[in-house]
Amino acid sequence: MSVFDHPEFFDHEQVVHVRDRDSGLQAIIAVHNTRLGPSLGGCRMWSYAHEDDALTDVLRLSRGMTYKAAMANLPLGGGKTVIIGNAASQKSPALFQALGRAIDRLNGSYITAEDVGTSPADMLEIRKETKYVVGLDPANGGRGDPSPATALGCFVGIKAAVRAHLGQSDLAGLTVALQGLGHVGFDLARQLHEAGVRLIVSDVNTMNIDRAVQQFGAVAVAPNAIYDVTADIYAPCALGATVNDHTIDRLTAKIVAGCANNVLARPEHGDQLMARGILYAPDYVINAGGVIKVFSEYAAMPLAEMEQRVLDIETTLETVFKKAALENITPAKAADMLAEQRISGLNQAVAA
Ligand code: NAD
Repeated sequence: MSVFDHPEFFDHEQVVHVRDRDSGLQAIIAVHNTRLGPSLGGCRMWSYAHEDDALTDVLRLSRGMTYKAAMANLPLGGGKTVIIGNAASQKSPALFQALGRAIDRLNGSYITAEDVGTSPADMLEIRKETKYVVGLDPANGGRGDPSPATALGCFVGIKAAVRAHLGQSDLAGLTVALQGLGHVGFDLARQLHEAGVRLIVSDVNTMNIDRAVQQFGAVAVAPNAIYDVTADIYAPCALGATVNDHTIDRLTAKIVAGCANNVLARPEHGDQLMARGILYAPDYVINAGGVIKVFSEYAAMPLAEMEQRVLDIETTLETVFKKAALENITPAKAADMLAEQRISGLNQAVAA
């Protein structure tokens, strides 16, 4: 499929196909937009069935990063890399070093980081060839796992949603149905528990469930039952597209707010949530804590400033919810509009 006619092509600045015969590297780097700063976005390694699937992914994900960075008020644009290959069997130091050389040729218009299928160790190999990489382990000068920052942003984002929609500033006594107790979800569960929230949780990994039951007194339900429980908030922290044709009518929650990417299976599910009186916290706004943390590594930002920027997700979401209510549009639409204003230079900061 040609790039310019691709349905996911939205004025991407640069799309680079990378091939390194010796290491077997086949990758695509997409730089969506650098208007606010260099593009940043993770490097995904996946066994794409076809090159077209990889192109679709990299075009879509790089654009998403532009919006995420804009709403996090970062001086960054959006980019992404996809490596076509099996992360379990086709990794090698040479492959990531070859990718590092390709990234270096972009002269800083793209900064990479870890993503699905890649790790801090892979970033270290890239680092041998370019400085335009973040997400390293603390032992190698990085800031480590971004998940705690994502969880903190999500926690304050839930507070913003509760204030806007339920008219209360305290989370105590509310019930959250939390799907996925992984790196982000478990830490979010801890913060919610400490705030006096009742937790109903699901995970396909029983060890994670057991820990949450023991440590937070959570009530566990089967993975598919999480959509049917009575709760104030549904927090998707596992997979994307869990608000879909099969689940949307089952939700009893008044708020959907979690860290997962691409929560809505299709944009119209945002309209359907609104029609049902359910407030949706747009995924790329509420889950931006991780990108703020990796940017802080790149910019050598003091930790206190990094944390403040993560906490600012609360006010950014307030701005989104206010705009949505005022203009009678979905929060997802309001967030897109605010991001586009900032990218086009009409808005210096989203929540000044
Ligand atoms: P993770 O892999 O550590 O955790 C995911 C958890 O979901 C695991 O415990 C897994 O067992 C569970 N899970 C998988 N399928 C499930 C199902 N059907 N029902 C219930 N649980 C299921 O991932 P993570 O880093 O915690 O990220 C979670 C989500 O947040 C992902 O969608 C990710 O893209 C998104 N996200 C993460 C970050 C970050 O900083 N880690 C940043 C932004 C967005």
